[in-house]
Amino acid sequence: MTNLSLPSIAHFIGGRFTTSSGGRRQQVFNPASGEATAEVVLASVEEVNSAVAAAKAAAPAWAEMAPLKRARILFKFKELMEKHHDALAAVITREHGKVFSDAKGEVVRGIEVVEFACGVPQLLKTQFTDNIGGGIDNWQLRQPLGVTAGITPFNFPVMVPLWMAPMALATGNTFVLKPSERDPSASLMLADLLQQAGLPDGVFNVVQGDKLAVDTLLQHPDVKAVSFVGSTPIAEYIYTEGVKRKGTYPMRVQALGGAKNHLVVMPDADLEQAVDALIGAAYGSAGERCMAISVAVAVGDVGDRLIDALIPRVKALKVKNGMEPDAEMGPVVTAAHKEKIEGYIEAGVQAGAKLLVDGRGLRVPGHEKGFFIGGSLFDQVTPEMSIYREEIFGPVLCVVRVPDLAAAVDLINAHEFGNGVSLFTSDGHTAREFSRHIEVGMVGVNVPIPVPMAWHSFGGWKRSLFGDAHAYGEEGIRFYTRYKSIMQRWPESIGKGAEFTMPVAK
Ligand code: NAD
Repeated sequence: MTNLSLPSIAHFIGGRFTTSSGGRRQQVFNPASGEATAEVVLASVEEVNSAVAAAKAAAPAWAEMAPLKRARILFKFKELMEKHHDALAAVITREHGKVFSDAKGEVVRGIEVVEFACGVPQLLKTQFTDNIGGGIDNWQLRQPLGVTAGITPFNFPVMVPLWMAPMALATGNTFVLKPSERDPSASLMLADLLQQAGLPDGVFNVVQGDKLAVDTLLQHPDVKAVSFVGSTPIAEYIYTEGVKRKGTYPMRVQALGGAKNHLVVMPDADLEQAVDALIGAAYGSAGERCMAISVAVAVGDVGDRLIDALIPRVKALKVKNGMEPDAEMGPVVTAAHKEKIEGYIEAGVQAGAKLLVDGRGLRVPGHEKGFFIGGSLFDQVTPEMSIYREEIFGPVLCVVRVPDLAAAVDLINAHEFGNGVSLFTSDGHTAREFSRHIEVGMVGVNVPIPVPMAWHSFGGWKRSLFGDAHAYGEEGIRFYTRYKSIMQRWPESIGKGAEFTMPVAK
């Protein structure tokens, strides 16, 4: 049902912002006020097909453009992002709810991938062997795939699309972005800035939408690769559907899923540092980060000291509208998500965990309808409880007590997720052993949220990633390019007569 009083957020296809009339729509909220601010148009099959057609039409010329020229457009895009840094962050806060300073940080982490992608002439360089034998030289090309697509989650509406698009574009692909329908506006700002930077029409497209748009992209024979970031059930679905699509080229899929990240506190850790790390990493962005710490593992006798230090800090969290300068934590993204988090808290209580700080029922003056929930803290959490096994994606920290490091490693390795982990210790050998034996893709030692920089690659293990390529960095270059080997010689080097044996160097 269309609400004519709300502005609508639609697509960007072939260099044009569309104004879709009718069709399916969904409300977009400001989580701090709880009010609907816009309606997002949910793409039809035809709209997705037209975005893919625009991307396909733009692909040959874009692939032919010299990498240095593509990089120059990205340099300009980076400048524009810096110029509009505050505006981008404000849009994130308005639709996601995270605090403004955190939203600014998200934009910076996105810009860093653009900066990395600007090095594409160097990154596309390959190896050359002079004279492998008989006057033949052998080298490789890394060529673009064609039309690629990205499907992104609500929790980083600027950064996660930028894990993908700059890498895809720099390497000569065209791109269709399907952002989260919960905070869709930032995607159109990115489209606008890319256009201002001189990107040719059709190279970058945005289709707003839901499952229908995603399924249409997944089944489309012209989409050569899909990058996905979101929850594990959908990541697994995207991966299995994508790889089984029939076509001349099998679809490439990288699908990054959910997480349950642990922070291990050893008895020799600096407790104050560990507590600071836990407070920031568990409650920052209201726990809506795939690298949020949601489990503190207290080793040996550290448990009581840790709990005593955590309780007052959790109670003192400043939970406010994210635009207030001293806000430490904003609301969660939607009313439904708030309810889901509260349901997990209740399940934890019912299962026998000790709820030391209860964030339910928080009232933020002036924002009574906002989707606020305070920080919550559980002690005596055990591995069979749903609050331990499942991703809550909210400001809820669970403390699990274990006797020693080996038990901490066994606990973490038994978990289905393996995105990020952190260890606080002052012992080098402990850190080394932990880093080598932990079955998790991204490890922090005295670092709470070990998100790799743009020139490394981002990805978890186990059910936190489906497919074999991590995001951005050199893995991103490989994901978005096809490797071709060329052997070449000239007539002067060719002998006479047909050869019937396997060619070998003579
Ligand atoms: P989500 O899985 O609900 O949605 C992600 C995308 O999938 C959205 O674009 C959405 O429209 C689409 N989608 C949702 N349901 C679908 C369906 N049934 N079929 C096809 N497409 C569907 O995730 P979210 O709630 O937006 O984001 C939070 C999740 O993302 C958390 O689980 C978090 O851990 C994860 N995440 C992971 C990483 C990582 O790098 N591993 C990074 C950020 C977020």
